[in-house]
Amino acid sequence: MSRIPFVAGNWKMNTAKAGAIELAKAVAKGATDGVQIGIAPPFVYLDAVAQAIAGSKLLLGAQDAYFEKSGAFTGEISVEMLKDIGVTFVLAGHSERRHVLGENSALVAKKAQAIYAGGLTVVHCVGEKIEQRDSGQTFDVVQRQLEELTPAMQDPSRVVIAYEPVWAIGTGRNATDGQAQEVHAYIRKSIAARWNKDFADRVRIQYGGSMKPENAGGLLAQPDIDGGLIGGASLKADGFLAIAAAAR
Ligand code: PEP
Repeated sequence: MSRIPFVAGNWKMNTAKAGAIELAKAVAKGATDGVQIGIAPPFVYLDAVAQAIAGSKLLLGAQDAYFEKSGAFTGEISVEMLKDIGVTFVLAGHSERRHVLGENSALVAKKAQAIYAGGLTVVHCVGEKIEQRDSGQTFDVVQRQLEELTPAMQDPSRVVIAYEPVWAIGTGRNATDGQAQEVHAYIRKSIAARWNKDFADRVRIQYGGSMKPENAGGLLAQPDIDGGLIGGASLKADGFLAIAAAAR
């Protein structure tokens, strides 16, 4: 089963407007066939970035979305609003939202399901903390987080899992090729059991956690790693595009 790799940049709370536009344009120039490339800038720059990359193959993503369609939810952004300005994929359950902003599993599940129901691609982030890995709970943690998704999500092209061990995010310490592949294979097996094998064979599973040009080749060569969710290394166009080239 060949899956088109998907490499997405999560800019987090970085860049200013001019720099965001410049970075987006530079990445857009390198977006070609063979690998899907996306960027998720801060909300306030999404519209300007959408205009800057119009006509290119670069996909526009958002770092979060609220699950309600509209109403009295101060500070929140709906899936409909994101669609309105050209966003096609949205992160759910990023470890910083779970562990820094305090999102619980019920909220992550509602967000993931609203993103999918709204017609967008959900990039659902899962991953264990270091103490959970050290105490042998990695698979259990990942399994519980996968259960935030439901088999009612039937389109495998709009369900992406990002395996991001929390201890590897922003730390400079990536999972080894073998550690990452082991969990990716587990995720695919778990999805096959809950949906079916055909769905599991089509779903893309990204690795995230200190991925950079120097380690991307080994990680992306693993049979169940179908791209990457990149934080720090997505803030420089050359390095980010080098990772995308390694995924092709
Ligand atoms: C991320 O934020 O999803 C991430 C993987 O960050 P970094 O690449 O900086 O570890």
